[in-house]
This record gives sequence, C-alpha cells and structure tokens, in this order.
Amino acid sequence: MHEMSIVVSIVEIAESEAKKNNAKKITKLELDIGTVSGIELDALNFAFESIKNETMLKNAQIKINKIKAKSKCEDCNYEFNVEDVYSLCPKCNSYKTTIIHGKEMKVKSILID
Ligand SMILES: [Zn+2]
Repeated sequence: MHEMSIVVSIVEIAESEAKKNNAKKITKLELDIGTVSGIELDALNFAFESIKNETMLKNAQIKINKIKAKSKCEDCNYEFNVEDVYSLCPKCNSYKTTIIHGKEMKVKSILID
C-alpha cells in the first residue's frame, strides 16, 4: 500500500519539526491532499491509525484538506474543475489540458506541545 509509505514520511516530517522545537508531542496535523494526487483518503487514514500510537502523533488530531483539482486548457486558457487527470476542455473540447491544482500532498501545519 503506497499510502503507508506516504504516512511514514509525513510522520517523519512532523516529528523532526516537533523535535526541532523541543516539543514532546504533536497535537494537530493538517494536510493538504489533492483530489488527483493518487492518494486514497481512506487508506491514508487507515495507515495513520495503524502507526500513530508508536509516534509523537499518538493523540494528534489529523485534519485533511481536500484540494479540488483544477485544469487549464492550453488552447483557450479556460480553467475548470476536474474529477480526473484526463479530461477535455469543456469549452473547446481540447485535450491539451494541464492540471494546475489537485496533485498536492503536503503538510500544511503542525501544532506541537
Ligand atoms: Zn479550451
């Protein structure tokens, strides 16, 4: 499950940040996850639940912000919401569209104690 390796690296980032600040625990972790990042949120939550008791995130509240995917058409510059990585421009039907939002996978904020 590739979500597990993502969670492991998120925990590493959070813990090293907390240690830098001499914190004993992490109380809240906020993540930005794009809807076309390829990450299954259920799997991500499951992975967190299964390892967090062994980490500084034991009692942390985990908040996940879903970042809606947006594409831009290269032919007419129209920006539109997408559900999928591959979608046609709804205005001119061009297939030359580029994802501009929605691939994010990052730690937005960490609250420590
Ligand atoms: Zn277009």
